[in-house]
Amino acid sequence: MPIVTSKKDVQTLPAATGDIWAEFREIERLNLSLTQTYTHTLGKYSRFFIELENRRLLGTRCAGCARVYMPPRPLCPHCLQATAWIELAGTGVVKTFSVLHFSPGSNADVAALKPPYVFAYILLDGASTLFPHLLRCAPEHVELGMRVRVEFTDQPVEHPIHLMCFVPME
Ligand SMILES: [Zn+2]
Repeated sequence: MPIVTSKKDVQTLPAATGDIWAEFREIERLNLSLTQTYTHTLGKYSRFFIELENRRLLGTRCAGCARVYMPPRPLCPHCLQATAWIELAGTGVVKTFSVLHFSPGSNADVAALKPPYVFAYILLDGASTLFPHLLRCAPEHVELGMRVRVEFTDQPVEHPIHLMCFVPME
């Protein structure tokens, strides 16, 4: 007779004849939630996030090949040179997108999103790379080539990336 203390959702799985694990087929399932608090440093990318609070959008440019990285990269992967910060205007174009029907709820900012919502890859004016982020737009209105701009919020956020999102220009 197994000892069950929690009485939560106990199942007995069928055992085949000769099953050496027959004594272990009774399964008790528990629903446990895990909460963790940890400190994460944004390192060389910190200035990008700090400037979001100042409503400025910063990328980086390589002095060797003139590529502009957005999201910023501290090192150019083509030239292996350190890049320099530059400010971008915050306008761009939708290159591809997904309509999400599920919010992972990984933090309060994401949990607040009401599906369906749009996640887009934006080519910012003056940038060489695509910037993936939220596009606040009705899913039925988003299209490739659509002009968008950055919008900043003064509302409190859990992660500074949510100080910004994209919205249609019209
Ligand atoms: Zn380069």
